[in-house]
Amino acid sequence: MATQDNNRFQAIIAHAKEYGFVFPSSEIYDGLSAVYDYGPWGSELKKNIRDYWWKSMTQLHENIVGVDAAIFMHPTTWKASGHVDNFSDPMIDNKDSKKRYRVDHLIEAHVETLSKEEGNVLIAAMDKLLAAEDFAGLKKLIEDNKIKCSISGTANWTDVRQFNLMFKTEFGAVAAEVNEDENIVYLRPETAQGIFVNFLNVQKTARMKVPFGIAQTGKAFRNEIVARQFIFRMREFEQMEMQFFIRPGTEGDWYKYWKEARLQWHLSLGIPAEKYRYHDHVKLAHYAKEACDIEFEFPIGFKEVEGIHSRSDYDLSQHQVYSKKKLQYFDNDIDETTGKPYGNYVPYVIETSIGLDRMFLLILSQAYDEEVIPREDGAAETRTVLRIPAKLAPIKLAILPLTKKDGLPEIARAIMNDCREDFYCFYEEKDAIGKRYRRMDAIGTPFCITVDHQTKEDQTVTIRYRDTMQQERIAISDLRALVKEKIR
Ligand code: ATP
Repeated sequence: MATQDNNRFQAIIAHAKEYGFVFPSSEIYDGLSAVYDYGPWGSELKKNIRDYWWKSMTQLHENIVGVDAAIFMHPTTWKASGHVDNFSDPMIDNKDSKKRYRVDHLIEAHVETLSKEEGNVLIAAMDKLLAAEDFAGLKKLIEDNKIKCSISGTANWTDVRQFNLMFKTEFGAVAAEVNEDENIVYLRPETAQGIFVNFLNVQKTARMKVPFGIAQTGKAFRNEIVARQFIFRMREFEQMEMQFFIRPGTEGDWYKYWKEARLQWHLSLGIPAEKYRYHDHVKLAHYAKEACDIEFEFPIGFKEVEGIHSRSDYDLSQHQVYSKKKLQYFDNDIDETTGKPYGNYVPYVIETSIGLDRMFLLILSQAYDEEVIPREDGAAETRTVLRIPAKLAPIKLAILPLTKKDGLPEIARAIMNDCREDFYCFYEEKDAIGKRYRRMDAIGTPFCITVDHQTKEDQTVTIRYRDTMQQERIAISDLRALVKEKIR
């Protein structure tokens, strides 16, 4: 990671805290590792991202509906999904520092110190060993490359072991004296399974016809071994997932469709295409047909923000086996090759899965700008501005009376009352106008208006645009429509 970018990342983290976006969880007790709280503007931005995704999936797709499943699920769900047996990462401990590393992260961090060619060779070797689950081979790879612990500086490693990432808790009031295992429930590590187990409920009640999708947003929990990098990797986070149920045999086309459609969703926010790239998976789960990540260039490098996975009928079939209930669909469309209906089958699934918190970090990373601007006295100053897309900005319009007297606050309040039903407005009369503008820049408010003495004469206000800092006069009567148009 270049120092410059690390500085930028640290500046974004500090800004997020100072301006009410993200706080460390339970900070007065020194925080909880990899758990974060969203502040006033952070929770608003997060909600806006969630709404934008939700609307694009459900309201704008006639064949996608939503669910809101519980976080707790029957424990057999996680047996069926494979999480109890397989949701683990190989990890290794340094015997001197006692620090635990995820093997792939340890090797990837080392790769950053190598030349591109050397790094590629090492990554290829690692991918091969991970795919073969060759733990002894992975340890040898770490030793052969003389990879050291960043804390102790030694290469005194334990063997590589698997570590399950699911959080367990006890269900109900029964204490441990009875069979402990019977009371164990897990905090869901992904939202997808709440969709799969409800497949038939949704299909029947919403009268859906294949192909159709089910969308869900909600919390997921993973006991990540290496949890750092701010909200990029958290132990409690939020996912936005959509499972698209299709006829077997059509998965190639639908996978292509969703791979492209999801990238277009990102680009629709006005983020330059060169900040994104696909990473096609080489190592696939045994049931997976194809899988890729959409990666974004964060200040810490290109990293996954979303996954698109062609999952075959694996999940529904597994739930059929474990629940002994049929999860099939009767397709009465005519198969042209046989001239008969397609009949009963377990649908195949294409999944799109994006982390809400990662998307939040993406928006902050893209929006954060320290811009040097000339001051009136000829000197230069730096303004920190969040160029958040207007439709996602926490506050859309700041309403600022120039002074606290002469009837200006009353006019400003009337404008506020007129607009607040349609979009989030913010009223402020304290401090010089320049200072108020800067505060609004720092939280990404795209439009500010100033109510001044001329307003009393001609019913106009000065509107100031965050990105260009340009100002113009507009009639109060045009204001609401103008802002609504810009945030559409
Ligand atoms: P990674 O390789 O980064 O651990 P993953 O491939 O395990 O991620 P998925 O299981 O495909 O991730 O989850 C889908 C999305 O959920 C990811 O693309 C990411 O945006 C988000 N996500 C996964 N784990 C976390 C986490 N610990 N903190 C924040 N977001 C996460």
